[in-house]
Amino acid sequence: MSRAQKIIFFNQKGGVGKTTTCVNLGSCLADMGHSVLLVDFDAQTNLTGAVSGDGRKPNIYQVVVGKCKAEEAVQKTVFKNLHLIPGSVDTAGLAVELVNESDREFYLKKALESLGDSYDYILLDCPPSLGLETMNALAWGEYVIIPLQCEYLAMEGLNLLMRTISNVHRSLNPDLKVMGILFTMYSKRGLLNQDVVDDVSGYFSDLVFKTIIPRSVRLAEAPSHGMPINYYDRSNAGAKAYLQLAKEVEDRA
Ligand code: ATP
Ligand code: MG
Repeated sequence: MSRAQKIIFFNQKGGVGKTTTCVNLGSCLADMGHSVLLVDFDAQTNLTGAVSGDGRKPNIYQVVVGKCKAEEAVQKTVFKNLHLIPGSVDTAGLAVELVNESDREFYLKKALESLGDSYDYILLDCPPSLGLETMNALAWGEYVIIPLQCEYLAMEGLNLLMRTISNVHRSLNPDLKVMGILFTMYSKRGLLNQDVVDDVSGYFSDLVFKTIIPRSVRLAEAPSHGMPINYYDRSNAGAKAYLQLAKEVEDRA
């Protein structure tokens, strides 16, 4: 592959599976032989915790404010083909720090430009907000993956999200596309789960990934061991789902 595919995990709602999808999809793409960089752009730094990096000091905050080059912040992980730029609690202050900068939405894009074609995929995890960090992510990326928890009636939030993406497409980033809506934490026995899947699939049809991520305790456990699911428990249904999703992403990218 000649050019890095830049994918953002975006949903302003918290706890829907953005970080879980970023780390496990990234690791499964790496497993398939692609060179993958994960970027933690959420001040909660959950992504950084979920993959054991090599402990190198610079982080995404220093990269974005120009204190170091993106390459200097890239950590190797113990997992094949998988790299990480760690997150920082300081990214939460970017909106205040950059308030007077007219090009404040483009700091991330400029900061990551020097990475060029070093990776097949760059996967970036967003915070659960529509704030400046998320705008920077949307101004940088090419594809958006929208994780959607099956347990809530999701249409209203989804419409706001789609409007935001189309506004950004118009004003900041003409290359931005929705790659797909991904159902997460699906349970056959869960209240509303199948209703949400039917409603959203009926409305957004081909935009919805065929793969549905099941609710699985192993997926929730893996981050505390610093391991993606395909290393933590490869035979688990969640691992199989993320491997299948990786194939779909390969086809759509
Ligand atoms: P935030 O908006 O706070 O960043 P998020 O959208 O990144 O949240 P995650 O952190 O990925 O969401 O997931 C929220 C919680 O649900 C975590 O504890 C995670 O381990 C758990 N979780 C995610 N996906 C699954 C799943 N398929 N099965 C079981 N638990 C899951
Ligand atoms: Mg998260």
